[in-house]
Amino acid sequence: MNTNAVIAIHGGAGTIVRASLTANAEAEYHAALHAVLAAGQRVLADGGSALDAVSEAVRLLEDCPLFNAGRGAVYTAAGTHELDAAIMDGSTLEAGAICCVKRVRNPILAARSVLEHSEHVLFTGEGAESFAAAQGLEFVEPDYFDTEARHRQWLLARDQQRAMLDHDGASFAFSSSATGGDDPTSHEPLDPNRKFGTVGAVALDAHGHVAAATSTGGITNKQAGRVGDTPLIGAGCYADDATCAVSTTGSGEMFMRMVAAYDVAAQMAYRNVCLQDAAHDVVMNRLPKIDGRGGLIAVDARGNIALPFNTEGMYRGFARVGETPVTAIYR
Ligand code: ASP
Repeated sequence: MNTNAVIAIHGGAGTIVRASLTANAEAEYHAALHAVLAAGQRVLADGGSALDAVSEAVRLLEDCPLFNAGRGAVYTAAGTHELDAAIMDGSTLEAGAICCVKRVRNPILAARSVLEHSEHVLFTGEGAESFAAAQGLEFVEPDYFDTEARHRQWLLARDQQRAMLDHDGASFAFSSSATGGDDPTSHEPLDPNRKFGTVGAVALDAHGHVAAATSTGGITNKQAGRVGDTPLIGAGCYADDATCAVSTTGSGEMFMRMVAAYDVAAQMAYRNVCLQDAAHDVVMNRLPKIDGRGGLIAVDARGNIALPFNTEGMYRGFARVGETPVTAIYR
């Protein structure tokens, strides 16, 4: 038995500075992260698998409107929600993912069903929803995902003709009118008072297995049909007992181009570096080369964890079995 069982979670990274969060908002985030960690910790303490722990943690984060996944997801340019999620089991290298779903209440459960009940790895749109329906998963009306704060955020982005990280107006503009450069407005937070984020979890269980799960609404005002790193195995999510489990958050296009999650595992395998060094290199050296902003959480089979980010903040936390959960927001 492995006594190092641990779970780590994130709720997105971005321009999250102390001045932009009220004491109440800050307390709300800490409480939400703490509750999710405690739930994941219980699964692990009861001898549950890392896969069960990350599924449960991400399901709870999806149900929490503070974060950009499930309820509280950002809006596309068409004013709709398109959700992506992925999950991977480090003990078998089995994986499941779905993208562009609009009515599945918990995308992570759909991804888990793909992992368990399909020979395929990734389903998109209507096909993903048909699969989820056949698996008996819960469906909701698309407006279930609506929140007022997200709607405001979308109107702002739409008016500025930008697509950006939900929690970060800086550096993530695709449209020609605001591709960074000299435009000072492209470096201002979209909504300085409310920061939200993609969610993820990684865990090591008592049997020595690791798993990772990631879920998102994507980026505000994204073009309909756009898919980011989150549901792509190796980019937004990866797990292998031989190396580590990783869940990412940030500018998805750059994480895809860097195959960021897998790169952490690959560096451990081929360069023989430790988890901390591999994770640090990907987030602090490699991603910044192509303006990749964000962070990741990772755990290895010995119970080491790494939670690096190259932004001002990242909602994050970890909990070892038998110990008080630790949560943090700023650098
Ligand atoms: N990585 C996500 C995406 O590009 C966004 C995020 O992490 O907030 O869809």
